[in-house]
Amino acid sequence: MPTAYDCIVVGAGLAGLVAARDLHRKGYRVLVLEAQDRLGGRMVGQALPSGQWIDFGGQWIGPTQDRFRALLDEYGVRRFPFHTEGKKVLVFEGKRYEFDGFFEGFPEGEPPPVSPEEWQDAMTAWERFDALAKTLPPGHPRRNDHTQALDRQTFSQWIEANTTTAFGHWYFAYMVRTVGFLGPAEPGQVSLLHVLWGHVCASQAEYPEAELIHGGAGQIPAKLAAELGQKVRLGEPVLRIVQSGDGLEVETTQGRFAGQYAVVAMPPHLAGRISYDPPLPPLRAQLTQRMPMGCCAKVLVSYDRPFWRDRGLAGLAIGNCPWIELCADSSDPATGVGVIAAFIVGDRYGAWRALPEEGRRAAVLADLASYFGTEALAPVSYDEADWPSNPWIGGGYAAFMPPGVWTSYGEALAAPVGRIYWAGTEMAERWPGFFDGAVRTGEAAAAAIHTRITAGDSDG
Ligand SMILES: Cc1cc2nc3c(=O)[nH]c(=O)nc-3n(C[C@H](O)[C@H](O)[C@H](O)COP(=O)(O)OP(=O)(O)OC[C@H]3O[C@@H](n4cnc5c(N)ncnc54)[C@H](O)[C@@H]3O)c2cc1C
Repeated sequence: MPTAYDCIVVGAGLAGLVAARDLHRKGYRVLVLEAQDRLGGRMVGQALPSGQWIDFGGQWIGPTQDRFRALLDEYGVRRFPFHTEGKKVLVFEGKRYEFDGFFEGFPEGEPPPVSPEEWQDAMTAWERFDALAKTLPPGHPRRNDHTQALDRQTFSQWIEANTTTAFGHWYFAYMVRTVGFLGPAEPGQVSLLHVLWGHVCASQAEYPEAELIHGGAGQIPAKLAAELGQKVRLGEPVLRIVQSGDGLEVETTQGRFAGQYAVVAMPPHLAGRISYDPPLPPLRAQLTQRMPMGCCAKVLVSYDRPFWRDRGLAGLAIGNCPWIELCADSSDPATGVGVIAAFIVGDRYGAWRALPEEGRRAAVLADLASYFGTEALAPVSYDEADWPSNPWIGGGYAAFMPPGVWTSYGEALAAPVGRIYWAGTEMAERWPGFFDGAVRTGEAAAAAIHTRITAGDSDG
């Protein structure tokens, strides 16, 4: 089969589209193959009849997420500050508190009015956690005695050993169930090393939820794809990649395409479902069996106005309610409509998913009423994004490392295999789990292929 493409990109999420766009701009012949009949992967949204938009996947952006910000600037996409004015709400063990400060559960400003012992317990443990994280150098964790000792433990073990109160315990469990780079996972499922590493390279202290995008993040994939035109084929899952000395062949459900290089741009567990000839190196094959996606549904509930602001509330609430541990005001000030984004994560997801449709809705609205009052029971719209049910994603926000995986298999995470490069937010060394990490890996894969082609390396 004649080589038709310089690079075939598998997956039209943010990482894949960035890789394809960069190579296309350098004059290379590219083809993008996407399994779903839509673009964007975990970056997808919808406009509501009210004029407000909602994002089913990612939505926030932070001030130090340079590569994603540069992409938005390039397309002239405007942002607005995440609304945090007003009192935040904490519901803990059935008690409801309102307070200032306390950005998404991390220590800043005025503490929530739990008892001083409980708050001190959480903060003392936080200092230990922060100090331990600082012992890790930047970049992907490498195997040594220190990282192996950390990687042997679950985060749950660390929480047990470092907190003494129910609040201190929940504070850290909440963190792994809601924060971007951590899956979300239950504390007993994730490696302590992974949690510490995430705190180094994708820290909440850098405010990754500082801004939202007018019109939603879901508009970005179409902007990237517009540059690529007919080079993107949707509804065409890749089944197999065959590499030979002078190129590779990518087989989909509908045909076969020949190219020089491939970028497989998706979470590792999905990359592992593709068949490879020759087979993947054993470490990479093992890794793809050991990096599960987080367990998360996102629910978007809209109201005719952000009614919580009338009561002096920010619309940001956390707590150990039955279903929703985190929800946040996602209203675009340009529309006047009120939108709350709510997350059902970890073990709560399974029980919620088992409810009938009406039961799920009632469960979410009841928790929103606990946080914001009974007006929450009468929304204008209610939409669920059930990420674990999407077979081409398998969960959200991102994949995470259980104990032992970083130090036994981590070196295979981003290493290319012959003519195949890996992209996707999970491969990022900075902002993994976030849009910014996805952009970085797409850019890096395109740059590596460009370097290789210009160096005249054609033997794979
Ligand atoms: C609920 C939720 C909330 C989030 N919140 C935020 C946030 O506020 N801020 C933030 O920065 N990030 C957030 N994220 C994370 C962010 O959405 C992701 O990091 C990013 O979109 C990942 O992009 P990607 O290209 O790496 O992967 P993906 O978007 O997963 O793209 C992979 C693509 O590969 C395709 N694919 C899979 N298998 C095949 C195959 N065999 N053949 C062809 N195609 C295939 C998939 O269909 C998909 O389109 C959130 C994610 C979720 C789910």
